Amino acid sequence: MAYQLQVTIDKDSGFCFGVVYAIDMAEEILEEDGYLYCLGDIVHNDEEVARLKAKGLRIIGHEQLPALKNEKVLIRAHGEAPETYRIALENNITLIDASCPVVLKLQNRVKTSFDQQEKVLIYGKHGHAEVIGLQGQTNGDALVFQDISELDGVKLPDRFTLYSQTTKSVDKFYAIKEELQNRGYDVKANDTICRQVSNRYEELGDFARSYHKVVFVSGKKSSNGRVLYEVCLKHNPNSFFVSDPSELKPELFEAGDTVGVCGATSTPMWLMEQVKEVLERY
Ligand code: SF4
Repeated sequence: MAYQLQVTIDKDSGFCFGVVYAIDMAEEILEEDGYLYCLGDIVHNDEEVARLKAKGLRIIGHEQLPALKNEKVLIRAHGEAPETYRIALENNITLIDASCPVVLKLQNRVKTSFDQQEKVLIYGKHGHAEVIGLQGQTNGDALVFQDISELDGVKLPDRFTLYSQTTKSVDKFYAIKEELQNRGYDVKANDTICRQVSNRYEELGDFARSYHKVVFVSGKKSSNGRVLYEVCLKHNPNSFFVSDPSELKPELFEAGDTVGVCGATSTPMWLMEQVKEVLERY
C-alpha cells in the first residue's frame, strides 16, 4: 500500500488550560516525591494516564480516600464536592488542588444560588465527576438531567435556576432553556459552558470541512470529545473516532486523501502525532 496521505494536525486541538495546569502540577510533584495520589483519572485519556502512572501517579477512587492518611492527593480539573475536602481535613491529607478555575467559579455560583434558596437544575451527565462536584455544592439538592425527557412528569417549581456542566453543547443548552420556557417556567438560565470547548466548534467545523477525511482522537470517556466529534461529523461525514492509533483502519482511506487529525481538550498532542505517523505509513 502506498496511499501517500497528506496529514495535518489541527493546531487548536489538544489540552485546554485546565488540563495543562493539572498535569503540570502532577509532574512537578512526581519529580520531587516520586509518587502522588490522584482522585480519579487525571484526564479522560487512557494513554496520558498510563504515561503519568509510569512516573508514579497512583489513581484512587473516592471509596479509597477515607482509608488514606498523611498523604498528598491531587484534585483534578473537574473539581470535587465539599465532602472530599472534609475527609482530607480529618485524615491529614494535603490536597493538591488542580480544580480548573472555570469549574471553581461555577461551583461558587451554584453554591450562591443554593444559599439564596433557589431551586437549582444542572444540565450535565449523570455520574460525571464535575457534575457530582456541582451537586455537592447544594448538599445533593440540585436536580441533574442529561436529557430534557428526564424532566417529563417531574414536578418543578414555577421558578428555578439552570446551570450547565462546562463541556456541554451550547446549542443544546439554549434549546433546553427555550423548551423549559415554552413549558411555562420562569427559568434563570446561566450559560456556564467553557469557551475553551465551545470556541472550538466553529474553528473545528472549518477544519473538518477542509479535508477529505477527518480522524478525531479522544478517550471514550471524554464528554467534550463526544461533543467535538459530533461537530466534525456534522461538517464532514467522513470523520472517524479513534482512541489510539491501533484503531485506525487503512480501508477507510483512499490514495491521495487529505486527512485532518484533531482531538478533544483531553487529547495529548503526542497521541495525535502518533496517529499522524501511522497514517503517513499507509
Ligand atoms: S474544558 Fe474548560 S472548564 Fe474544563 S478543564 Fe478545560 S478549561 Fe477547565
